[in-house]
Amino acid sequence: MSVWAVLAAAGSGDRLGSDRPKAFARLGDEPLLAQSLKRLDDSDWVDFIVVAAPPGWEEPAILLAEELGCSKVSACVTGGVTRGESVAKALAEVPEDAAVVLVHDAARPLVSDEVIERVLTALNEGWDGALPGLRLADTIKRVDDEGRIVETLNRDELRAVQTPQAFVASVLRDAYAEGDAAVATDCSSLVEARGGRIKVVEGDPKLIKITDAADLGRIAALL
Ligand code: C5P
Repeated sequence: MSVWAVLAAAGSGDRLGSDRPKAFARLGDEPLLAQSLKRLDDSDWVDFIVVAAPPGWEEPAILLAEELGCSKVSACVTGGVTRGESVAKALAEVPEDAAVVLVHDAARPLVSDEVIERVLTALNEGWDGALPGLRLADTIKRVDDEGRIVETLNRDELRAVQTPQAFVASVLRDAYAEGDAAVATDCSSLVEARGGRIKVVEGDPKLIKITDAADLGRIAALL
């Protein structure tokens, strides 16, 4: 069973206030991208990796993978305007005979083998897809344009979901072929829209998503 990892790393650094794309912002002594590249490459669960790099940063991404000795990187594509487009372009490099695609955001550098194992185990149990999720500490309200509360959601039913998200390869491919990748903020929503059965497994609090400069500092402290 071949597992292909798609690493979405083509986001801009706008919210970081950085002069370079987020994947190349410094995290400790390395670009942010280095952590997820190394961790996916080191994982016995992952066979091949396709990176979606920011436009103009394909060469640095390939060089970084070489420097780190990442032997599983099979392709590096130019990312799209949205995350969904970047994933779609990377997915085009995943061969037809791939069994599983694991999509991960480079913005969550601290991906662990344990969480990869949890999502892949759910696929082995027969689910179409699986992703990590955490219970919420806050109560969540739905509001209208004026800020008026429309609904209070039942917190026990809610999860904040993370990546890596794992899918049966054919299921993800079909979802991207038919869905509107440009507006999807995660892969699961495209599969859900087609009636796919997706399981949320236990997430990892360390899978923090880097959005602003303070997040870089918080994660650097956890390295
Ligand atoms: O922008 P945001 O933080 O939601 O991005 C989530 C992930 O998607 C990041 O790892 C980012 O690099 C990636 N992304 C991408 N292509 C884009 C936008 C975001 O690969 N056009």
